[in-house]
Amino acid sequence: MTTLVFDPPRRGKPPRHLADLDVAERRAAVAALGLPPYRADQLSRHYFGSLRRRAEQMTDLPADVRDALADGLLPPLVEAERSLDCDNGATRKTVWRLYDGTLVESVLMRYPDRTTVCVSSQAGCGMACPFCATGQAGLTRNLSTAEIVEQVVAAARDVATGVLGDGPPRLGNVVFMGMGEPLANYDAVLGAVRRIVDPSPAGLGLAQRHVTVSTVGLVPAIERLSGEGLQVTLAVSLHAPDDELRDTLVPVNTRWKVAEVLDAAWRYADVTGRRVSIEYALIRDVNDQADRAHALGALLRGRLTHVNLIPLNPTTGSPWTASDPRDERAFVRILRSYGVSTTVRDTRGREIDAACGQLATRATTGPISANEP
Ligand code: SAH
Repeated sequence: MTTLVFDPPRRGKPPRHLADLDVAERRAAVAALGLPPYRADQLSRHYFGSLRRRAEQMTDLPADVRDALADGLLPPLVEAERSLDCDNGATRKTVWRLYDGTLVESVLMRYPDRTTVCVSSQAGCGMACPFCATGQAGLTRNLSTAEIVEQVVAAARDVATGVLGDGPPRLGNVVFMGMGEPLANYDAVLGAVRRIVDPSPAGLGLAQRHVTVSTVGLVPAIERLSGEGLQVTLAVSLHAPDDELRDTLVPVNTRWKVAEVLDAAWRYADVTGRRVSIEYALIRDVNDQADRAHALGALLRGRLTHVNLIPLNPTTGSPWTASDPRDERAFVRILRSYGVSTTVRDTRGREIDAACGQLATRATTGPISANEP
C-alpha cells in the first residue's frame, strides 16, 4: 500500500520575493528598507506590468534605490537550467533550478488563438498516482508563491518577446498541471493565483477564468477553494468512475471516494457558476471499457461539467499505454450520448517528456542553504 505524503520534508524557505507579497505587504517591506512606500508600486509596475526582472532595467529609479529594492525584494528564485522545444517550436519545456538546487519544470504552449503555461506547484508530488512520472518521484518540497509566480512571469516574458514564434502577443492561460498537487500546497498556490489574476500592477491581470487549478480530489481543500470568491476553473483528475479502480489509479481515493469528490466539485460549480473539468487519462484495457464510459456518463449527466480525455502519455517503467483509437472514439461517443460535453486533449510535448504526467526531473537538492532550520 502506498503511503500518501501530505507534509513535505522540512527545509529552509526560499528568500522573500516581491511576488510573495500583496500590495500592502509590499509597501511595508519597502518602508522597512527605508524607502517611501510608493517605490513598492513602481517596482510592481516594472515586475508585473513590464515583466522586468533585473533592477538595471528599471532606469527611472535612482541607482541606490534600485539596488536596495533588488537586494530586498527581487532575489533570483528560478534560473533556467535548460529549455527544450518541440511541436515545430510551439511547445517549450523549461527546467528551473531553484535557490536550493531543486529542479522543477514548466511547459509553455502556443496555439493559433491562445498561449498557455503549465506550472509546477511542488517539486515532485506525494500523491503517488502510478501512471504519472511525477508521482513516482515522491515529494521533495512545496514551492513558495513567488517560485510559482516566477514560472508564470518567465512565460509571459517569453510570449511577449516572441520566443515561440508568431502567435498571440500575451500569455493568456495558466494551468496548475505541472509537477505537484496544487491543493496540497494550498496557501502558496492561492497566493500565486491572486498574483496571477490581480489587475496590474498588483498582479499580472490574467482573466480568472483562464486559470485552472487541477487536483486529485482533496475534498476539504476543494471546499475551501469554493469560498475564496474566485472564478478560476477547477479540474478534477477522476480517471475512474468506480472506487475499486480509482483506489488503485489515484491512491488518495482511499481517503475521499468518487462520490465525495464529485459532490465537492458540484458544490464548486454551484458556488462559482463555473463548469468543472473532469480529467480522465485513457489507459488501454485499464479504464477505457464501454461499461466504464456508461458509468461515467451516468455520474456526470446533467452536471455543469466538461470531460477532458487524455490519451495516456508513456512514462518510463510503466507497463501502461494509451487506448486503442477505436476504444477512445467509443468512449467519447458514449459520454456524449449522456449529454456530457467531452473532448480529447492533444498530446503536446511528448518527444521532450513535457506532456501530462511526464514531468519527472530528478528533484535533486543542492547545497544545504544558510537558513536551513
Ligand atoms: N496533481 C494534479 C495536477 C497533475 S497533472 C492532478 O492530479 O490533477 C495534470 C493531469 O495529468 C492530471 O489529471 C494527471 O492525472 C494527468 N496525468 C498524469 N500522468 C499522466 C500520464 N502519464 N498521461 C496522461 N495524463 C496524465
